[in-house]
Amino acid sequence: MRTKEEFVKGLRDRRKVFYRGGLIDVTEHPVIKVAVSHASKLFEYRERVGEDNSSKFFRVPRDSQDLMERHRLIYGLTMYCNGIFNISQAIGSDALFALLITSRKVDKERGTDYTRRVENYLAYVKERDLTLATAQTDVKGDRSKRPKEQEDPDMYLRITEVRSDGIVVKGAKAHTTQAAVSDEIVVIPTRAMRDNEKEYAVAFAVPAETEGLRMYVRPIDELEGNSSAVVSRQDYELETLTVFDNVFVPWDRVFLFQESKFAGQLATLFATFHRFTALSYRVATANLFLGAARLASYVNGIQNEKQVRDDMVDIIMYKEVMRATALSAALSPLIDESVAIPNPTFTNVGKLYSNAHFHDVVRDLIDISGGIIATMPSEEDLKGEGGEEILKYLRGAVDGKERTQVLKMAKELGSSHLTGYLLTLMVHAEGSMEASKIELYRGYDFSDSEKLVRSLLKS
Ligand SMILES: Cc1cc2nc3c(=O)[nH]c(=O)nc-3n(C[C@H](O)[C@H](O)[C@H](O)COP(=O)(O)OP(=O)(O)OC[C@H]3O[C@@H](n4cnc5c(N)ncnc54)[C@H](O)[C@@H]3O)c2cc1C
Repeated sequence: MRTKEEFVKGLRDRRKVFYRGGLIDVTEHPVIKVAVSHASKLFEYRERVGEDNSSKFFRVPRDSQDLMERHRLIYGLTMYCNGIFNISQAIGSDALFALLITSRKVDKERGTDYTRRVENYLAYVKERDLTLATAQTDVKGDRSKRPKEQEDPDMYLRITEVRSDGIVVKGAKAHTTQAAVSDEIVVIPTRAMRDNEKEYAVAFAVPAETEGLRMYVRPIDELEGNSSAVVSRQDYELETLTVFDNVFVPWDRVFLFQESKFAGQLATLFATFHRFTALSYRVATANLFLGAARLASYVNGIQNEKQVRDDMVDIIMYKEVMRATALSAALSPLIDESVAIPNPTFTNVGKLYSNAHFHDVVRDLIDISGGIIATMPSEEDLKGEGGEEILKYLRGAVDGKERTQVLKMAKELGSSHLTGYLLTLMVHAEGSMEASKIELYRGYDFSDSEKLVRSLLKS
């Protein structure tokens, strides 16, 4: 297993990462190195080490028990990272599980050898204990148009050249979490492709330092714009616009090549694995809000009030629906090509509940905390000349110092750049609401409901 130090050293390579207009070394940059430190916590988390002395993240789930363990692993690591998801080996393994299933199906139908390539790649990353980002979401251009109808053909990543030793790809993927601080990037299609869109049906993996790859990191406003940050000072994940400017991929790392028929299936399978991951980390993230709301009620002296109970119940509901749907999805998997897929119905129900109700969680925290989380004097003023005066007037059921400590946390979660980021994440990350609804509706078993009503109508 790698150490944290070996991981960080590995990031000092030829990768091209840009932040606020400049090319940076991710391990040295004062803001971005927090994302590196967050990612490196993976290597400290001992519960991730399996009996075979490799990361449990790369254990292919074969049954319910394996999925339950995966849920506990993701929850546990998120708790270890202060309630912030650690994607480093989670999303990449989600993609590899989907690729294992799809590659077997393509090989059976087309006589190709993708299974060998995917299995070899899985063994390679497992042995080296690598971290993997997954770039699925294309930039997509005009959403009403298919890939080939776009004004610019690069709006979906595509194959531009086929060589004897591999392929060349061009395009850009949006919102790639932790790509700038990962060892490798796995790329899969974002949607189903038609026969005439073969060049867009492509999946592969490349090291993050590959020539032609450029990553533009989003501004980390939750840390740079917040001198009182508590969580973001220690843990956050970054996203990049990930540009593939004629990137070469050797054949051994190509996992889907022009098989347009299988692009949609691969995209959906990955989404199901990744949404199960999302339910699992969201239970832990909910603890941040539940804990902050509880402490805010104490420092405000309102812990026994009815409206506080109502607010707290909302947050408990959110957390426990995430847990219940994750566990149900693990308990009733679909088995395909000897891989256990989390039950798509429970997975999508949980994901859609999260999409619809996370803003309630934020509202509940704001309600309990009070308007002070938007209007509080700055950290600099608290530490400056007027500090004592401010603390005198900011007391609640406890003194001003203790109350402002708790309110700082409530402000970061409920009234800051981090809040805006999380509100967006909880709607879009792991796929849009529409994508989950389509998946849930398409796969839903209506037979009992229909049978019941039909038999009543006959009686
Ligand atoms: C914090 C965060 C982290 C993420 N991490 C990753 C990651 O690591 N890897 C990765 O690959 N992706 C990642 N994503 C991307 C995520 O999966 C997408 O945001 C999501 O799939 C929505 O895509 P989009 O952002 O392009 O939005 P859009 O597709 O632009 O959606 C905007 C609206 O347009 C609608 N729409 C889009 N297309 C159509 C259409 N054809 N017809 C009708 N309506 C349409 C949508 O339903 C939605 O209402 C992340 C996103 C966030 C916010």
